[in-house]
Amino acid sequence: MANIDNTVEHSLDAIFKPRSIAVIGATSREGSIGRQILRNLFDYGFNGKIFPVNPAHEYIHSTKSYATVLSIPDPIDLGIVVVPKEYVEQVVEDCGRKGVKGLVIISAGFREVGGDGVKREESIKAIAKRYGMRMIGPNCMGIIDATPTVRMNATFSPGIPGSGGLAFMTQSGALGVAILIATQKLGLGISYFASVGNKADISAIDLLEYWEHDKDTRVIALYLESFGDPAKFTALSRRISRSKPIVAVKSGTSAAGARAASSHTGSLAGLEVAADALLHQCGVIRVAAIEEMIDLVSGLSQAPIPRGNRVCVVTNAGGPAIMAADAAAAYGLTVGPLSEETQKAMRAVLSTEASVGNPIDMVASAGPDEYERTLDLALRDDSVDLAIVIFVPPLMVAPVEVMQRITSVARKYDKPVFSVLMAEEHHYETIPREIVNHVPFYRFPESATKVAAEMFRYGQWRDTPEGNVASFDVDAASARETVEKKRVAGGGYLCAADVFAILEAYGFPVCRHTVIPLDGDVAGEGNKIGYPLALKIDGQEIVHKSDTGGVVVGIENEEQLLAARDRIVESSRRAGTIEDATGLLLQEMAGEGKEVILGMTRDPNFGPLLMFGMGGKYVELIRDVAFRVMPVTDADARDMVRSIKTYPLLEGIRGEAGVDIDFVVESIGRLAQLVRDVEGIVELDINPVIVATKRGNCRVVDARIRVEE
Ligand code: ADP
Ligand code: MG
Repeated sequence: MANIDNTVEHSLDAIFKPRSIAVIGATSREGSIGRQILRNLFDYGFNGKIFPVNPAHEYIHSTKSYATVLSIPDPIDLGIVVVPKEYVEQVVEDCGRKGVKGLVIISAGFREVGGDGVKREESIKAIAKRYGMRMIGPNCMGIIDATPTVRMNATFSPGIPGSGGLAFMTQSGALGVAILIATQKLGLGISYFASVGNKADISAIDLLEYWEHDKDTRVIALYLESFGDPAKFTALSRRISRSKPIVAVKSGTSAAGARAASSHTGSLAGLEVAADALLHQCGVIRVAAIEEMIDLVSGLSQAPIPRGNRVCVVTNAGGPAIMAADAAAAYGLTVGPLSEETQKAMRAVLSTEASVGNPIDMVASAGPDEYERTLDLALRDDSVDLAIVIFVPPLMVAPVEVMQRITSVARKYDKPVFSVLMAEEHHYETIPREIVNHVPFYRFPESATKVAAEMFRYGQWRDTPEGNVASFDVDAASARETVEKKRVAGGGYLCAADVFAILEAYGFPVCRHTVIPLDGDVAGEGNKIGYPLALKIDGQEIVHKSDTGGVVVGIENEEQLLAARDRIVESSRRAGTIEDATGLLLQEMAGEGKEVILGMTRDPNFGPLLMFGMGGKYVELIRDVAFRVMPVTDADARDMVRSIKTYPLLEGIRGEAGVDIDFVVESIGRLAQLVRDVEGIVELDINPVIVATKRGNCRVVDARIRVEE
């Protein structure tokens, strides 16, 4: 039996591995939660003592019942509370006095109802804390420990969950029931289930910590409505994902999109960008729907992670195989030809109508033997990383034998096999679970393919080194001083000279420039910098200078320079921006290159978000950007650069030279360092940085920095 020696390794052991449980509010009343929980505990075969508590009964389900938890003669580890909300405070107090170590509060009527509910929740939280009791809930549907040594089903969910490697946490009780039912239908075993309800004490973070080192748990699934502490969540899930895949359904929205934004980065950081970025960086596989989650956890908990993306599709029907091949292409998997040798061997096994190109179409006459031998040959081929086996049962043929053979072949290889059984529902129930628990099966080819692709991507993430937070030799003190001065003066946008000075202090290659009064000696200053030049209107409040005719580029000589000044002043007067103008910015022209944007905006929940993307005047229109939350490692920076759609343009296509990608990656690292070092910066856009083939020709052309008010 678990933990009999009372050496509690983890404070959550009191909840998940109790030796004795009091069910406070147990009853035999038909249709009540108190009855169902007690029933589930008994039926599941809990490996410990169970004590019903209910003052109105002498016994419940032939088991002696106690008036209060205090009248139980034995020590109690876990209290499960199902009494009406008015009695919960008293019950929690009694539990504390009894020396109960953990609580699961099923009762509702707390924070979720507002008003007095909030006060009640604060009160039980305080009592639990005073007695050092950990607590799940209130307002939850309970917990399950399905590991063979414990067998505790303290939920009121119907059914008997199987034992396996999936730990599942849900913030919504209703969804929890749906998921338990779905996993049972698939024969998917769980290690733990926890419905956390209002999370007054125990949250996703506690459970992740608990499951990280749990030997029974191989896959973690989370249904989240909020992250709790995003920084903690990041650190923890990033570490755990290296050894155990985490799948998350994240519902709800972050506040990022609600922010009024005057920067490019701010306006591009829509709803959910931060949550997406965070989960991506942590290797957490995000899914949009419950069904997708079930598909995925079914794959992850049964099949090995594919080492590559080369798929072999084996089928007895053409249509579904084409659907699988199309889906594979769409999700980034490849369906290429197998080796000559494999093809030859397959031809010898299969009927003459069969096609041994990939997909391998064995035609409708294929039986268990063909499936077994063909799949064996496919998995033996070094050019195959995974297989999708489709079986559409011909009339009157039960799929059991075929599934059995598929499984026995799959077991011989360390390559995942996903089977697609396109059959009526009742066929699924005829398949003995022990046959298929090495081969996840799906009803449609697209879902199997999607799961295969997601598992492949997860494997890639897992095998990519985490990288380091890069540190460059910079002048943090001068940047801090400039920002601090501005903050004290009320904050807002820094002037161009300050912005460029900060970027230079952080090693960015800023265009040579000078700021002069509107009627200053442009010609003289122009000669000092050297032609060709760019001239721009300058003013902290002027947002997009070119919109109002405030930018002239490619100025070749003095005559053009003077004309440019007249034109800029004239257009700014017409546009009404002249009042905001504090002078003119004269700059060297950057050479040939691609315009990219680097930026930072702050999310109220997730902190600084770094952005990288295709830059220039059309960023909002093109929206080809990537976000990451801090900390951003060099590996993150590279992944960020590679993740944008137009990355091939940066690499160089159609005979065009590419740009210095390492310079871009390094610049993201320098930006991350600036954001880390100087807290007062709330928003930053560098748009564009013109990146050239050689790093020596890369230039920062335009930038804005907003300081905290
Ligand atoms: P804004 O973004 O406020 O409109 P920018 O200074 O970014 O003004 O200039 C707009 C565009 O003009 C840039 O995206 C770039 O294409 C071009 N440009 C501006 N300054 C230079 C320069 N010094 N060298 C080369 N191109 C420039
Ligand atoms: Mg610009």
